[in-house]
Amino acid sequence: MACLVEPLRDSAFIAGGCCVCDNLGIESRKIEADVTGESVSKKFWSGNEIREGFLRFFEGKGHRRVRSSSLVPHGDATLLFTNAGMNQFKDVFLGLEKRDYTRATTAQKCVRAGGKHNDLENVGFTKRHHTFFEMLGNFSFGDYYKEEAIAYAWELLTSTQWFNIPVGKLYFTVFGGADMASNVHIGLDQISLNSWRAVGAPTERIVPLSGEEGLKELFWSMGDTGPCGSCSEIHYDMGPAASDEGHKDCKFPCDCGRYVEIWNLVFMQWNRDANGNLTPLPKQSVDTGIGLERVAAVLQGVVSNYDTDLFKPLIARAGELIYVTPGFRPDSDASLRIISDHSRAATFLISDGVIPSNDGRGYVLRKIMRRAIYHGRIWNKAQPFLHEMVYAVRDSMKRAYPELKETANQVANVVLAEEQRFTHTLDVGLRKLEDRVGDLRRLPLKDIERYVERLEEEGKVKLDHEVRKYKTENILFAKSDEELRAGAIDLLGPDLAPQLVEYVRNTARHRTSFPGEEAFKLYDTYGLPRDFIEDALRDQGFVLDHQQFDRAMQEQKTRARASWKGGAKEAANPAYAKVAESFKTEPDFYFGTTAKDCRIEAIITKIGPVNELIPGESGEVILDRTAIYAESGGQVADTGAFYDNSESQLLADVTGAFYPVAGLVAHKVVAKETLRVGDRVAVVADAERRARIIRNHSGTHLVNAALRNILGTHVKQSGSLNAPERLRFDFSHFAHVDAEELRDIEQQVNDEIRLNTEIETNVTSLEEALASGALAFFGDKYPEHNVRVVTIPDPRAARGFYSKELCGGTHVQRVGDIGVLKIVSEESVAAGVRRIEAVTGIGALERYQQQAETLRQVASKLNVGEDGILAQVEKLSQTTKQLEKELEAQKRKGALSQIDELAGRVQMVKGVKVIAAEVENVDREGLRQLVDSLRQRLGSGVVALGMPEDGKVALIAGVTKDLTDKIHAGKLIQALAKRVGGSGGGRPDLAEAGGKDTTGLKVALESVPSLIEPLL
Ligand SMILES: [Zn+2]
Ligand SMILES: [Zn+2]
Repeated sequence: MACLVEPLRDSAFIAGGCCVCDNLGIESRKIEADVTGESVSKKFWSGNEIREGFLRFFEGKGHRRVRSSSLVPHGDATLLFTNAGMNQFKDVFLGLEKRDYTRATTAQKCVRAGGKHNDLENVGFTKRHHTFFEMLGNFSFGDYYKEEAIAYAWELLTSTQWFNIPVGKLYFTVFGGADMASNVHIGLDQISLNSWRAVGAPTERIVPLSGEEGLKELFWSMGDTGPCGSCSEIHYDMGPAASDEGHKDCKFPCDCGRYVEIWNLVFMQWNRDANGNLTPLPKQSVDTGIGLERVAAVLQGVVSNYDTDLFKPLIARAGELIYVTPGFRPDSDASLRIISDHSRAATFLISDGVIPSNDGRGYVLRKIMRRAIYHGRIWNKAQPFLHEMVYAVRDSMKRAYPELKETANQVANVVLAEEQRFTHTLDVGLRKLEDRVGDLRRLPLKDIERYVERLEEEGKVKLDHEVRKYKTENILFAKSDEELRAGAIDLLGPDLAPQLVEYVRNTARHRTSFPGEEAFKLYDTYGLPRDFIEDALRDQGFVLDHQQFDRAMQEQKTRARASWKGGAKEAANPAYAKVAESFKTEPDFYFGTTAKDCRIEAIITKIGPVNELIPGESGEVILDRTAIYAESGGQVADTGAFYDNSESQLLADVTGAFYPVAGLVAHKVVAKETLRVGDRVAVVADAERRARIIRNHSGTHLVNAALRNILGTHVKQSGSLNAPERLRFDFSHFAHVDAEELRDIEQQVNDEIRLNTEIETNVTSLEEALASGALAFFGDKYPEHNVRVVTIPDPRAARGFYSKELCGGTHVQRVGDIGVLKIVSEESVAAGVRRIEAVTGIGALERYQQQAETLRQVASKLNVGEDGILAQVEKLSQTTKQLEKELEAQKRKGALSQIDELAGRVQMVKGVKVIAAEVENVDREGLRQLVDSLRQRLGSGVVALGMPEDGKVALIAGVTKDLTDKIHAGKLIQALAKRVGGSGGGRPDLAEAGGKDTTGLKVALESVPSLIEPLL
């Protein structure tokens, strides 16, 4: 939570104070042998040192070190995950937001997966694809420009004080000019070219790229319109060993993998309008990004990012967990890389509040995790393991991301749950697959049957219907050519068999291809990996239609891309940005529900800024001050009205309010009288509604504190809603909160309410607030300064307060104003996330009254007083149970009455008594009892009973102990199950089956003697 890392002392590393460097002490000496045979740098730079070194370098150049923003982008619905350092500064670059610094540097957590940037399938099979990675960057918001950005990059990379990379390994690209849309031409980026020369880059290493290539590689834009500009990239020559195509002496910029882009300097130069015209931005800016993993590979002298100290400990741990030694085989190494990469992504995503689910961010997380789990199962199918990786990630990253120390246990729990769920899903998915295969089997079977029928019609063979069905199945699913030939001879005799074999091979078997779309659905819905599907199909004699599968996957990707465009932010109406430049709305809502003499600064409608709204029109109104609270931090917006300053004349209804950009409140209004820019109005919020909202908001803070006291400090807010009717609080917790805990929470909260302390609000810096123990909510974006801290004091507590939170909302004055807080529900909303809903004040009273009324009605229905309800309900339930028992007994009796009739239907098969019959009007238990009774009655023999049951078939077979050597009830029942399209099994003496095909029941039971006969 605090700054990324404390400044490190070099001596800490020399002394081996860093856990990561400990492992690599030996390695650092080996690095002399670089891939090209020359040493890059004398000093060994660990990943942690590179990150810290970068930030410290830019701090030394007057940059503010800003902490990494959450992987879940705040207030940018167009972006799936934070994927670049500049994301958190987008509004600053767009001029919508101002900060008190103009230079910043960050180490930003990024995830690219499932979007346009990265195909998950590649990760693990290449040297440089990752789902999670860290982007180091320096940013200038209208401060320095190309010259300084290039000078800084040069110094950091080549100075002997810093990264000390030989200039002979570097290339610098500059934009060489290109024709843009509609006759707009941009020339060579002369400033960048000169800047590289000025710092000392040799001319032959500065490479201009122009035309199509220049546009593709070196032109950046935020969207179709808006800020854009050229880039200058720094590439590193990894040497011939890094060439994926085995090039020995190719020249830059060959894209065989030898030349790696390490740093991209983006210069925001122009604003592009809808016609493609470029006008210089008033404040030209710089946004740079250098991938930590890549620089680590460079400075540690290895070709692959996965061979750096950022990954090696993870790969080693993954190897221990799935019992594979790193370096064992190329495919096992790929699995280890996948597990290492994906466990970083999963750990950070879950730590930032993403939970595996079936859509949006949670879906991508789930896909990442399942891919890792699957790659573990390939090598060690037995046990969940991925949750253990969370601790390995924590250990290697906790220095830079201390929050991992707090969240690791919780994250590991979420991962474990997903592993268990996935195992279950695999089972369910495989069952679905098998069901579908069962259905599909019927088609080729019909083909063969028809073939045989034709032979019958021609008088060439004559077969029993059942025998034909059974034997054609053997033919279709023969595992080998011998089996196929044997089956054909068995069915048709030696003369006709060869033709049938030909037919099956050439025609019928072609229908054993499994539709690719259906397989993709199993892949997509149940997370069944493709390999799993193929294996399972092969076992069933089917093959996957690969083309269809690939097509379905491609379509899904296209859909995914369409829904997450990324990058192009749906810009707030530009009119707001203009207004925001000159002032912010004064928040009078902290002091009450009315504000007089508020000036209308702007009116915005669908068509843009206007000067007036006439009666009946709706629009959004910006005031210089307001008493209306705009929706934020979980607290819903106030409703209210504008009046003239005497408050006698209604001017407009206010239906809501929001922040179009930071610091600016837009009121959604419907005008009753004409409103003009410059008018002065009185703003009145609905006080009664506000009172209900703030009781719930203060209540939320109490609930948050109580949860942490009673369940533990792992509880983290993951969302909240403070509405007039109720409060809702979502939090991370892995178990169901039981009734006793809920009672404790409720009691503690109400105890605080009765203490009736006065709530304190003060404004301070983010750093100070966090240091004082205030809780922050990860999903919110806080400014560095002027954060509000809301404290509920409690003189009894050691820290002097019961609750302290960063919060921009409005609260009751004294905590006793809440009245009472009643929890009304507790439930799970996602794996590892619970939701509590509660009511306060009047809402609680209404709830009690409602429940009392329900109780009164129940008592009246039961014809007892309220005190008698429980006893009466108990009595009713006893009666119901008794009646159910009697009904059961009646059914049993009916079943047993069939015994005599069934016993009379004994057939003799080679001297063994066999009863095979259909029964009715019994349940499954009755059926079991019948089989038992009949076995006893026979003394020695075989009983097989079946019955239709809800459109399905139930079958039970029993064999007396003296016969189980020869006749296995389980095998018998399996043969019968086949005939009713089902499956079954059991012990040698008793077995059960179920099936779908009720029409096959009669034939199945009739086949019992013929099945037993060969066994005797
Ligand atoms: Zn090459
Ligand atoms: Zn709050």
